[in-house]
Amino acid sequence: MDLNYSPAEVAFREEVREWLRASLPDDLRDKVAAYAHLTKEDLLRWHRILAKKGWIAPSWPQEWGGTGWDPVQRYIFEEEAGYAGAPPLVPFGLAMCGPVLLRFGTPQQKQHFLPRIYDGDDFWCQGYSEPGSGSDLASLSTRATREGDRYVVTGQKTWTTLAHYADWIFCLVRTESGARKQEGISFLLIDMRSPGITVRPLRLMDGGHEVNEVFLDSVKVPLDQRVGDEGMGWTIAKYLLGHERMNTARIGTSRRELENLKQFAARQKKGGRSLMDDVRFRDEVTRLEVELMALEITNLRFLDQLRGGRPPGAEVSMLKIKGTEIQQRLTELMMIAAGPSGEKSLADRYANFRKTSIYAGSNEIQRNIIAKMSLGL
Ligand SMILES: Cc1cc2nc3c(=O)[nH]c(=O)nc-3n(C[C@H](O)[C@H](O)[C@H](O)COP(=O)(O)OP(=O)(O)OC[C@H]3O[C@@H](n4cnc5c(N)ncnc54)[C@H](O)[C@@H]3O)c2cc1C
Repeated sequence: MDLNYSPAEVAFREEVREWLRASLPDDLRDKVAAYAHLTKEDLLRWHRILAKKGWIAPSWPQEWGGTGWDPVQRYIFEEEAGYAGAPPLVPFGLAMCGPVLLRFGTPQQKQHFLPRIYDGDDFWCQGYSEPGSGSDLASLSTRATREGDRYVVTGQKTWTTLAHYADWIFCLVRTESGARKQEGISFLLIDMRSPGITVRPLRLMDGGHEVNEVFLDSVKVPLDQRVGDEGMGWTIAKYLLGHERMNTARIGTSRRELENLKQFAARQKKGGRSLMDDVRFRDEVTRLEVELMALEITNLRFLDQLRGGRPPGAEVSMLKIKGTEIQQRLTELMMIAAGPSGEKSLADRYANFRKTSIYAGSNEIQRNIIAKMSLGL
């Protein structure tokens, strides 16, 4: 196993770092650093800068605009972008619907949707979860009934991130009540402007609006907006969840946050001394740093496997669990460092980050996956 970067990979990192230094607008970097709300325009602006450079969809095949980077280069890019404080890339089009269309879409679907995702012309959201169907996703009950050359869809989706920005939603719907609940699910692409769609905000603990309820009331969807065969939705859903889990460690972002934390704590005074001189606080920060280093090494092990052409197994769930635990702990230590007079934005971020151990498959579910698939329990 080789956990070191090759000279070519080191040079690539330098190229990415240099480009980010020159191309990431200061106002966007400042907003990210200040935990400020990013508008749809902010997110699209960064998306379009990357699209113009040709770096927006590294994992796509080159004929559709992919960069041809190997998994190590893709990781280096993500790490550097996170470390530089670039806005997050909204995954629903680029990292979810795109890969699904590439794998299961018709030539017409690819031709129509992929360039629009690439250029940021269509903003997508993900319609999987429903009230009562989160971890147990296969129990979903939004129904699509076939009527001539279209489906009529009725039901409710929930927790739909950025549905209030979205032009399109990809939805899991029940087209048949099969013997097994996984059967009879289909995957539909639905235009958010269709009559019968209502989006209602759900306020999170920090008061922010990022998730929604989406109601579908007899929404008409042309048959050619189904991806894959009827009843194939569960296979597609599982394929997509694999993509969703790969990029949850956010190591570059956590490295930047850890540096922020150390600098911030060094400026905080307690009894005339810097908080970083407080043995107990320093101990907490050091523990977290060790955890982050261990996560990086674990990630490098997976990358080395990928470099050798072996896809990592269910153990990749460790990245989600440890990555999100570290992200949450960072927000906790920031709150402790700030003390009772801390800025509201820190408290908001602390509250907001409780979500990370729930979304993209809760951490309990990830532990079940490791127990079952990797440990054979
Ligand atoms: C901020 C945020 C954004 C989201 N964005 C989207 C989105 O854009 N699109 C979308 O479709 N969904 C989205 N989700 C939904 C997310 O995928 C679900 O919240 C998640 O799958 C958990 O489902 P649930 O909320 O129904 O909780 P439940 O499944 O009811 O789980 C409740 C608790 O029980 C635990 N639990 C459940 N089953 C088991 C088990 N078998 N073993 C051990 N523990 C278990 C869970 O870990 C959790 O702690 C988002 C969620 C959040 C919080």
